[in-house]
Amino acid sequence: MARRKAKRKNKQEKIRPKRIDANAARQDPKKELKISAIGEGTVIDHIPTDATFKVAEILGLESHNGVVSIATSLQSKSIGKKGIVKVAGKSLTQEEVNKISIVAPNATVNIIKNYAVREKIKVKSPEVIDNVVKCSNPVCITNNEKIPTKFFVVRKDPLKIKCHYCERSMGKEDIEII
Ligand SMILES: [Zn+2]
Repeated sequence: MARRKAKRKNKQEKIRPKRIDANAARQDPKKELKISAIGEGTVIDHIPTDATFKVAEILGLESHNGVVSIATSLQSKSIGKKGIVKVAGKSLTQEEVNKISIVAPNATVNIIKNYAVREKIKVKSPEVIDNVVKCSNPVCITNNEKIPTKFFVVRKDPLKIKCHYCERSMGKEDIEII
């Protein structure tokens, strides 16, 4: 423990003071939040910051061939801290949008064509979630037989869902995407 602490202290001492850019004050503060623009693709905005990587996981972006930019802890007037995921060369299926709504109920999906927002879709939580979330009850039939899971949305934000088969109630923190 003591050794680890000492190490950290050394690291801190190595940090050099930042050079102050004389033009910094004149720059538009909004520009700092911008991450690389994409020509064609999808931008998912207004993700709760702690769900940002979950969205990337839902979309399987670790194996996506195009450019993927992920930013977290950006300031947002509407939701506090937010995350943004930009994916070049990908449009989302309705199923993917539904999955995103489970972890990011207020997200906006922007369809980008030729570097401009062509369409803005507000994510909507579905009433029923089919085969997206794993039931947290180990004895639930969906965990023991090849049956797709089915949940009813009891409350949208914060999310509360109920298993159709075993009636287990689950909150945001119990949710594991299949
Ligand atoms: Zn269940």
